[in-house]
Amino acid sequence: MTDGFFETLESLRHHIGDCRRCALGDTRLKLVFGAGDPGADIMLVGEAPGRAEDLSGEPFVGAAGKLLDELLASVGLTRGQVYIANILKCRPRGNRDPLPAEIDLCAGFLREQVRLVRPKVLVTLGNHATRFILGTQAGITELRGKPVVLGEATVLPVFHPAAAIYDRSKREVLFEDFRAIAALAGGTARQSAEEAH
Ligand code: SF4
Repeated sequence: MTDGFFETLESLRHHIGDCRRCALGDTRLKLVFGAGDPGADIMLVGEAPGRAEDLSGEPFVGAAGKLLDELLASVGLTRGQVYIANILKCRPRGNRDPLPAEIDLCAGFLREQVRLVRPKVLVTLGNHATRFILGTQAGITELRGKPVVLGEATVLPVFHPAAAIYDRSKREVLFEDFRAIAALAGGTARQSAEEAH
């Protein structure tokens, strides 16, 4: 469900309001819309807010957010230079997986965010975001690190930072994949500049 098209992220956020379109609206503490540069070349998409995000209203805080900050810093980026959002804007209690009906009701907002940000690189964090964006049932272990061109963006699936907090091998793979993300964003930017001449 998209509920229409919007001129800006602010107008979309205003439209979502105090959303109760699905039952998660009754149990969340704070709706987590998304954050970052509305014109970013790189957009990161996760699954749903967790406990720390529900409390703060910000995406990717807590331990997974700290690792995400380290990953961004490793390629010279800050949160303010990318855009971060989740498929679901409200926390499923107990951090359970999103239900298909919840995704159906909420994902239009993410689609609209992607349309407005128009990222060059769309990074899907973990299984749920990757399956949703690519419309596949394949798992993240199979898909990670393999770029897929989707419309104007290149999608790059990577492990979810939460899965890598205590897994050294996944951490190393994530740092490697963030170098690929930076190269893809730089490459597409360079390509556009060359095309302009
Ligand atoms: S998860 Fe999405 S659809 Fe459900 S209440 Fe929150 S914003 Fe609305």
